[in-house]
Parts: sequence; C-alpha cells; structure tokens
Amino acid sequence: MVPLLDVNAQNHPLEAEFTEAFLRVFRSGQFIMGPEVSALEEKIAALTASKHALGVSSGTDAILLALMALGIGPGDEVLVPAYTFFATAGCVSRAGATPVFVDACPVCFNIDVSDARAKVTVRTKAIIPVHLFGQAADMDAVMALAEEHQLKVIEDGAQSIGASYKGRPCGSIGHIGTYSFFPSKNLGGFGDGGALVCQDDELAEQCRVLRVHGSKPKYFHHFVGGNFRLDPLQAAMLMVKLPHYGDYTRKRQANAAYYTERLLRTSGVVQADPAHCRCGSTQAAWLEETGARVVLPVGYGHNEHIWNQYTLRIVDEGRRDALKDFLIGRKIGCEIYYPVTMDQQRCFADTPESSRRGCDVARRLSREAISIPIYPELSESQKDEVISAIQDFLGLGV
Ligand SMILES: *Cc1c(COP(=O)(O)O)cnc(C)c1O
Repeated sequence: MVPLLDVNAQNHPLEAEFTEAFLRVFRSGQFIMGPEVSALEEKIAALTASKHALGVSSGTDAILLALMALGIGPGDEVLVPAYTFFATAGCVSRAGATPVFVDACPVCFNIDVSDARAKVTVRTKAIIPVHLFGQAADMDAVMALAEEHQLKVIEDGAQSIGASYKGRPCGSIGHIGTYSFFPSKNLGGFGDGGALVCQDDELAEQCRVLRVHGSKPKYFHHFVGGNFRLDPLQAAMLMVKLPHYGDYTRKRQANAAYYTERLLRTSGVVQADPAHCRCGSTQAAWLEETGARVVLPVGYGHNEHIWNQYTLRIVDEGRRDALKDFLIGRKIGCEIYYPVTMDQQRCFADTPESSRRGCDVARRLSREAISIPIYPELSESQKDEVISAIQDFLGLGV
C-alpha cells in the first residue's frame, strides 16, 4: 500500500516538539496574533526573500485579500489559469471581478502567457499566475505583459513556497505572492492557514489593515476588510516544521528524480521536452513521433521545482482513468489534478463566453493528467511499488 500523502509519517517523529509548541501557546493564553504569528512571518519573509510577510487564514483568503488590497472589483477582468485549483478563479469572482480563463502550457502545466496576451482587454486589471505542482510559471513573460498593460500581478504560490524562478523565490516577483499551509501543500499545517508576501510598504500596510476588518485602530473602519488572521497555534506548529523544510524539499526532488530515471526505461514512456513549452499545437506531432503513451513531468533548468505533485500525462483517450482504476486496485494513492478546467465549471457558466474560449490544452490536460505519491517520506520500496504498477499497466497493452 502506498498512500498519496502520509502526514503522520512527517509529523509523528516531531511529536515532542509539537507538544512543546502547543503547550507554549496554551500557557500563554494568547490565541489571536502576537509573537507566534510574528515569528512565523519573519521566517516566511526570509524563506521567500520578501520585505513583508503576513500570516493569513488560508491560501484562498490570501488571494482574496490580495485582490481587495489591490482594489480589484466590479467591472475589472483578471486573467487566471484555466488549469488550476478553483480558489484562484473563485476569489476573483468573490471580489466582484470577472475571471478570464487562460490556456495552459502542455509541458510545465502553467499559464500560457501568449494566450493571456491575446485575452487582455481595456478592463483587464490583473493576472494571477499559479506556480502549479511546485514549479514556477514563466514570470519574465508575465511581468513583461503586466508592464505593457499596467496589470497587477498576484502570484498564487500555494503549491510552491520555497520554489524559485531564475534564482528568485516564487511569490516575491509580482506585487503580491500568496501561499497555503493546507496539509497537502509542501509546508503543511494542522488545518487551514496561509501567508501573503509583498515588497511594497504601503501595500503591505493595506493588507494588514484589511486582514482585521479594515480597521485601524480597532473599531475605526476605513475599508471593508475581513477576518483573515492566522492562528498563533497554527503558527507555532509550523515553526516546528520550518527547520526541516529544506530536507523535505530535497527528498521530494530525489523522489521525482528516482521516478523519472526508472520510468524512462519503460517503453512508451518519454519525458516532457522543455523545448515545447507553450507550443500546444506542435505537441500532437511530437507525441506521434515519439510514440509516447506516458509523458513524465520536467523541471526547467531555470526553475527550482519543489514537486508538490509528480504529474504524468497518459496520452490515449480514456487511458488515464484506466490507470487510476488500476492504481487504486493495487492500493496505490493517486489523484486527478484537475478533472474539470475552470472555464468548464458550472459556477462560471454565466461569465461572458469570451472569457471562456480557447482553453484546449487545459482541457486536454484535465483528461490526461494523473498525480502519483511524491511526499518526502516515501520509502524506496514504496516508490518501486508505484513504478512496477505503472509498468505493469503499460505491459497490459490494452
Ligand atoms: C491549495 C490551493 C489554494 C488554496 O489554498 P487553501 O489554503 O486550501 O485555501 C489556492 N491555489 C492553489 C493553486 C492551491 O493549490
């Protein structure tokens, strides 16, 4: 048996330290903000090379707070990836703005900036690149587009805290970066939590005020904000994990390298080619040429990929779902990230048709992608079990 994720394998060895952290908060009697939250914020700022870091209630709230702080609302359009977790687009709607869905790169799964460019209108106010599965989006292209059209850039780094793009930490490049401590993220907490970073003093202050209902001082409300605070208990527990974070990341990277090296020895398995980044239309020919049935993920040379997920593409129609059933039969955890693209979600059916067109690569990925266990504590025999299962599946030849 190999679970998709085993939080206990990571947490139980640190039980004594977590207990101590709990007791410290318990005895302090301070359960809202205070030194535990500040201490974590300092560490997050250092980890992401950011001037300001704020602990917030979740990765989702971090995005919503970012949109509010940047003044994005009704009448505005925001470019978001079609292929990502719901929160990115959901927050745009909750802020009263219109999400405009952008196609994906078939190689790195991230936002296709050339498609984003084609979808800019006079109403476009912001773009939210997501650093999906632990790898940075093409930030040079994102920032160039933003500069050209005066767009605000919110980096959704929920899956990528500590990853980097050309040496710069994900989240520190745009106006605001957001992170999540949801238990399945690389820095997983003990419930919901998140963080937001930015480099601008005034913008950071605006985020701080909006985090507490837009009040400063208390009970004097200049803006309508929300309760977007991170619990001190959550902060204290995360502080226990932080010294181990580099080690967790190296193990994920080693697991990815292990899978890639061994799976590539299997016929029909190829690795995605960075040369095809954003070239959605030529990939069909490449797949045909290579005879690929399974495409392994790749980390670009200029990125430090932190492997929140190891996501395969299973090329033939229907085969991805067959592999999922096969793995479940072998008691191997797997997950479809993501089975329905954002442009196809029912809740966005009444956004203008023009905001939902041309997401063909994203839709294809939603039919082909499957993620396998990559968490740091996987044993070698567990990894071998996953590899054998995939090889057996391919050997079935149906
Ligand atoms: C998990 C996730 C979020 C939301 O984070 P929560 O802490 O669960 O609210 C946002 N965006 C992406 C890409 C995510 O993976």
